[in-house]
Amino acid sequence: KNFADSQLIAPVLKALVQEGYEVPTAIQAETIPAAMAGRDVLGCAQTGTGKTAAFALPLLHRLGTKPGKAKPNQPRVLVLAPTRELAIQIGDSFSTYGRQMHLRQALVYGGVGQQKQVQALRRGVHILVATPGRLLDLMNQGHISLDQLEAFVVDEADRMLDMGFLPSLKKIIATLPVERQSLFFSATMPPKIVELTEQLLNDPLQITI
Ligand code: AMP
Repeated sequence: KNFADSQLIAPVLKALVQEGYEVPTAIQAETIPAAMAGRDVLGCAQTGTGKTAAFALPLLHRLGTKPGKAKPNQPRVLVLAPTRELAIQIGDSFSTYGRQMHLRQALVYGGVGQQKQVQALRRGVHILVATPGRLLDLMNQGHISLDQLEAFVVDEADRMLDMGFLPSLKKIIATLPVERQSLFFSATMPPKIVELTEQLLNDPLQITI
């Protein structure tokens, strides 16, 4: 089955044609229809499997299906990544697959000044890609509210655990709206991650690649 046969909205399909993507990878074939239907997903998958598009495409579809002006400081989609490098990569993927759409994206991560990030948030944001520590800092300063959040992604959860982000991650999760979609990816599933997924996910589709 090709992307062209999926129910993804036209601007997303057009971007995929431009990228030369025709056939979904295994994780995309399973995740995309479930996520488009609003289900939570628990994906056990390494990098290189196409997992970024597996969550980015259905979330772009969601934003395009229910368009709205970007609100300052109130993202509709939040993606958490363990490192600045991965956050930038994920942001690039959303930009690429969303290039036919008019969406505003912001990136927040530590190790750099926060002023430019704060300004980007104020200009309005549909999609926020963040590392946990900086996200919490900006939330605590009132620069980010998750009240309008519709979908939440955790990428490389096991690396977040290794880097000591579990307490931050739990604090962030505690502030999420109850009614939301959650997509969770980890290469391995140590007990602390399994416990976290049980608190976070609602009847998830489980996929191991
Ligand atoms: P990821 O696992 O998300 O880091 O993706 C691995 C690489 O595969 C990236 O360079 C993507 O651009 C590429 N990719 C993802 N999905 C597809 C697809 N369906 N067809 C061709 N390339 C893809």
